[in-house]
Amino acid sequence: MTDRIRPKPGILDIPLYEGGQSRVPGMGDVVKLSSNENPFGPSETAIEAFRRGAHQLHRYPSAHHSELRAAIAAVHGLDAERVICGVGSDEIITFLCQTYAAPGDEVVYSQHGFLMYRISALAAGATPVEVPEQERSADPEAILAACTKRTRLVFLANPNNPTGTMLDAGTVANLAARLPARAILVLDGAYAEYVEDFDGGASLVDARENVVMTRTFSKIYGLGGLRVGWGYGPGDIIAALSRVRGPFNLATVQQETAIAALADQDHVEKCRADNARMRDWLAQALKEIGVPSDPSYANFILARFENAAEAEACDAHLKSQGLIVRRVGAYQLPNCLRITVGDEPSCRRVAYAVAQFKGLR
Ligand SMILES: *Cc1c(COP(=O)(O)O)cnc(C)c1O
Repeated sequence: MTDRIRPKPGILDIPLYEGGQSRVPGMGDVVKLSSNENPFGPSETAIEAFRRGAHQLHRYPSAHHSELRAAIAAVHGLDAERVICGVGSDEIITFLCQTYAAPGDEVVYSQHGFLMYRISALAAGATPVEVPEQERSADPEAILAACTKRTRLVFLANPNNPTGTMLDAGTVANLAARLPARAILVLDGAYAEYVEDFDGGASLVDARENVVMTRTFSKIYGLGGLRVGWGYGPGDIIAALSRVRGPFNLATVQQETAIAALADQDHVEKCRADNARMRDWLAQALKEIGVPSDPSYANFILARFENAAEAEACDAHLKSQGLIVRRVGAYQLPNCLRITVGDEPSCRRVAYAVAQFKGLR
């Protein structure tokens, strides 16, 4: 066995990503609040487009995604030539690491940041560098202090998952301006649509040469199962990423469903408003029963418990009530539970069950 072929360095250090649980053994009627999915699902228009997709399965898809890129650019006021589409924004993260982070290069992200940054950095053979946060919020000074001349990518989810916290535009612009030469700031805007009047960092991309934004149809568009995301960046960076993108990475039905979803901005607006209303209601209800959370800018709240044992026990109680939320020990937050904001009945059930757990019902 000594001559057995081995994976490249770093590959076996990659932790296997575990998605949110969706079942409780022996329980039929569960509410899944563990993957930040939109409780209302996608727009009807998108579902119809998906159905129509069945008629063209024999055809290869568009390799240049020009209609989808044009639709994205029109909704967001962007240059379609500098949009790249992927199999979820996860694939854009992969392209960035594959393209810019070689062995010996460093990929920086913050302590409670999205797990895919570390996974993609290791898969590219690069060195992941994790930066401590301050009270569950990314710390720009610590990020800058962690950068070296080997830093190639700095990932910042804004708002961040699983903390729900967010840095303001001025702070992000200042961070971009002070990064070392040859480092790219990647603004992960998976939850950008949940923030009123927020461009996800698009104007910063336009203003600078070292900023890329990633976005997704998985969250507010309710299309996590479809797997479509996109990136926006400077022309030379998008041109480089396009070299590693497989030509047929997105099926026709993915492209056309996403285009139809973009056309229904009323659905997006309704989901944003309902999320804000129920998120604030749930945060307040939990606070009143002794479970605080940071103000969240996304479609989940990070509920804090006294310690890991209490979080685990509350998770078990919620499961017994058919409510599946997310343990976040893998994000170094063992005393917290991340709870996706569901529809109103689900939020009421969560508040009731947590109160029960606290002995208040
Ligand atoms: C959910 C999420 C994404 C989206 O991933 P997709 O591959 O587009 O489904 C990206 N970044 C963060 C921080 C997320 O929470």
